[in-house]
Amino acid sequence: MSNPITGPATIAFIGLGQMGMPMARRLIAAGFTLHGADPAETARRALTEAGGSAFASAAEAVTGAAAVITMLPNGRVVRDVLLGSGGAAHGLPKGTLIIDMSSSAPTDTVALAADLAPLGLMLLDAPVSGGVKRAIDGSLAIMAGGPADAVEQARPVLAAMGKSIFATGPVGSGHAMKALNNYVSAAGLIAACEALLVGGKFGLAPETIVDVLNASTGRNNSTEVKMKPFVITEAFNSGFSLALMAKDLRIAADLADHLDLPLPQIQSVATLWEEAKAGLEPDADHTKIHRHLEALSAAGKNAR
Ligand code: NAD
Repeated sequence: MSNPITGPATIAFIGLGQMGMPMARRLIAAGFTLHGADPAETARRALTEAGGSAFASAAEAVTGAAAVITMLPNGRVVRDVLLGSGGAAHGLPKGTLIIDMSSSAPTDTVALAADLAPLGLMLLDAPVSGGVKRAIDGSLAIMAGGPADAVEQARPVLAAMGKSIFATGPVGSGHAMKALNNYVSAAGLIAACEALLVGGKFGLAPETIVDVLNASTGRNNSTEVKMKPFVITEAFNSGFSLALMAKDLRIAADLADHLDLPLPQIQSVATLWEEAKAGLEPDADHTKIHRHLEALSAAGKNAR
């Protein structure tokens, strides 16, 4: 079995966005040497200020890295960064661990692992849940798919960013689990927003609705951590975009389809979020699904 990767080993971190940047900070705090890449200059500056070394291209950032982490918008970008023209994977020594922490599609991940294997590179999928807040405090839930010894090799790296680390099974299983988690989460948010709209029109105060749900069986993550700070205040700034959530839900619905499981709600939730994405501004936060539901209810019975 390969030795666990511990600080001060170099980690290349590709994608320093809302999640990637605080996760990179946790790795620096845990004693790793951090080489990061992101096309956004603000992200590179933030990494340098945090004590890492920033590069404009992934191919430069991966030099000397014991492991490469990707935290990118989707699996297509991950494949392009690794295997596209001038891709980072071509310069990596055999045995380097690649950990895709993005929320990618599991079938793409299985194909990517197969394409990296001839280069002697091992792919783990280790997507996360918990949002920006838990990325900042290092308490993410991490679902790691891949061979058990590779998960053990990565464990100290993952432990710097997350509190619960689950070995979910073969490569791709972490990404499948992540899409399913976000499906359940999104369905819960929709239900909470609909309760707010129906209850509100009937005359219930929004805070009362949320307080009662949180003390009752209707409680879910959205009623507990999203409705008051992001929806009722209309701040809509949780740090997770609606476009990324819509992507995750399409992954979950396509997985059900791929497995020949014609389940009704997983498909309708994915479609609803895609419609919301089409109707809202491109950088809308996912909690703005409430605005979409509000618009549908305002349009009355013939809206859908
Ligand atoms: P983001 O858009 O804030 O960050 C993505 C970053 O990737 C950006 O900084 C972008 O410049 C960079 N990037 C794009 N193309 C690149 C390339 N070719 N090379 C290097 N960098 C590149 O997104 P995010 O919210 O940080 O989400 C990242 C991933 O994590 C997504 O897959 C998302 O679904 C998932 N996720 C997000 C959250 C959340 O709460 N925001 C929670 C869990 C999982």
